[in-house]
Amino acid sequence: MSIPFVKDFDFKYGECSVMSPLVKRVIANNPGPFTYTGTGVYIIGNKEVAIIDPGPNTPEHKNAIKKALTGKKVTHIFLTHHHLDHSPLAKPLALEYGCNIYGLSIDIKKRNSFPSLEAGEDNTFKPDIDVKCGDLFKGGEWTIEAIHTPGHTSNHVCYALREENLLFSGDHIMGWSTSVVSPYEGHMGDYINSLKKIKERNFSIIFPTHGTYIDKVDSFIDAYINHRYYREKQIIEALKTGSGLILDIVKKLYLGLDKRLYPAAAHSVLSHLIYLREKGVVMATADNGLDCHYKIIES
Ligand SMILES: [Zn+2]
Repeated sequence: MSIPFVKDFDFKYGECSVMSPLVKRVIANNPGPFTYTGTGVYIIGNKEVAIIDPGPNTPEHKNAIKKALTGKKVTHIFLTHHHLDHSPLAKPLALEYGCNIYGLSIDIKKRNSFPSLEAGEDNTFKPDIDVKCGDLFKGGEWTIEAIHTPGHTSNHVCYALREENLLFSGDHIMGWSTSVVSPYEGHMGDYINSLKKIKERNFSIIFPTHGTYIDKVDSFIDAYINHRYYREKQIIEALKTGSGLILDIVKKLYLGLDKRLYPAAAHSVLSHLIYLREKGVVMATADNGLDCHYKIIES
């Protein structure tokens, strides 16, 4: 039932590494419990280039990206979603290189005031052009396809590089860890469907924003999906015997977890419970929340 994570890989912060004939990567020096070794920024193409998720807006990282872009024409900046470790450098780079930012807008103010996790949200997130699932974008040597993959966030988009049958998966699929699916921005039912959507495409290789690449794509996604179903089963079992409080479920299910990730685990359990309520399996004493009691609906 374990996911074949790959945690070790060689890199140097700020260095531009060649990942494939059309793909280069620069890793920002922003390691943390959600970013792992930091944000991996991908540069696609050799002359006319696109950038996927430029990362944090720090002078050191911006200089590293600019160095990697020397002599190149930047035509597109693509964003997978609006988290602070992915998008803040997009606007400064777009202004500097005179190109558009592509992504999926989100009305951050309209959202539920539920506490956010991860590195937080980029409140200035505003793509120039909203992508639709299946949209194609052409550069000199490359074709990029936008694939809407809601789940981690409702506006999460993965980008496929058609010429190399590879996928830039953002935070949807990561090689070092499972992805955070946190209500209400994230949704477990959407997330599992988005994993199936990517699996059907038979990509040869996946480049996530954090950590190294995944090359055994099919078995990795299977393990990723099975992990969520296994958690769901564990939660149902815990509800049958326990108090029905999320904190108790977390303590039971996440033995040995890094304490910094406790809130993330609680949110993940909540997203399973919300999904189980939607499926008519579970009921709650109040609105979907972190503190109410959940129990199985007896059939
Ligand atoms: Zn994220």
